[in-house]
Amino acid sequence: MNEALIIVVSGPGGAGKGTIVQSLIERDPHLWLSRSWTTRTQREGESDDAYVFVTRAQFEDRISDGGFLEWTEFLGNLYGSPVPNVGEGRDIVLEIELHGAQQVKATRPDAILVFVRPPSREEQQRRLQGRGDPEHHVVERLKKAEDEERQGAEIADVVVINDDLERAVGEIEGIIRAARGLSR
Ligand code: ADP
Ligand code: 5GP
Repeated sequence: MNEALIIVVSGPGGAGKGTIVQSLIERDPHLWLSRSWTTRTQREGESDDAYVFVTRAQFEDRISDGGFLEWTEFLGNLYGSPVPNVGEGRDIVLEIELHGAQQVKATRPDAILVFVRPPSREEQQRRLQGRGDPEHHVVERLKKAEDEERQGAEIADVVVINDDLERAVGEIEGIIRAARGLSR
């Protein structure tokens, strides 16, 4: 059996990672989306299965049990990807911030790291505000983005600009197709 590919989608808040990943998953039944654990509270209107919402104690127990492929603290909350348990023939998609992506690359150098960038800082701001993020989150995420983009470019296998959604998704599908061709 061939080992599953790991595709990591990372990038600054508001770049469009969640939107892109959703589209990839809907279009390709061979992709399996990892569901993260988080200690942050559920947002109003957010789907119950966006995350496994847990307490800090539950999260820390799972860390002690070695139950995370990677985890990090981001803007005051813990986030982590459980060690994947995926059926044969499916490839794994992780949508995570950069520190987590670095950890996955360190333990699984074969993982494909796709770093998504917004077309401009102004457009990123519009997207964050349009999504309804509170203003202090918008400011924090924009401030973080410069460093994230510099570090992301250093470790990414590919940097994708999310200007036109359809084009960006198509570009990533092409990368996944090429990787499957090499590994199978
Ligand atoms: P992230 O997961 O990177 O924080 P989201 O996927 O939540 O970002 O996208 C942020 C906002 O930008 C959402 O409201 C989404 O609908 C919008 N968006 C995503 N991609 C595009 C795009 N290519 N063009 C215009 N708006 C987009
Ligand atoms: P949000 O609170 O907006 O849902 O997510 C905040 C950030 O955490 C986003 O950049 C998101 O990609 C990232 N994130 C979500 N799940 C995980 C995870 O399991 N691990 C890591 N490292 N980051 C995650």
